[in-house]
Amino acid sequence: MTQAHDSTERTDDPRAQAPCPYCGAAETEPLALFGTQLLTVQMYCQRCHTPFEYVKDDAILAVFEARQAREADEAHEAGAARKGDQS
Ligand SMILES: [Zn+2]
Repeated sequence: MTQAHDSTERTDDPRAQAPCPYCGAAETEPLALFGTQLLTVQMYCQRCHTPFEYVKDDAILAVFEARQAREADEAHEAGAARKGDQS
């Protein structure tokens, strides 16, 4: 699987970018932004429930960015709800 470096295309489903090395499942989710080395992230396989390390690339970082954006959204909503309590 090789792609030209100048490609600006983004896959619609970045979740498929880090298949589990143990069972090959694509159902993996980001676990931690840093693994045992700065160059790796920790992923978690939802099929065999095994955490594994994956070398960072743009696609996998996009997965983490998407997750962080989602969490920031949730935090923002929670913050807005709390703000409503203060008067
Ligand atoms: Zn697995």
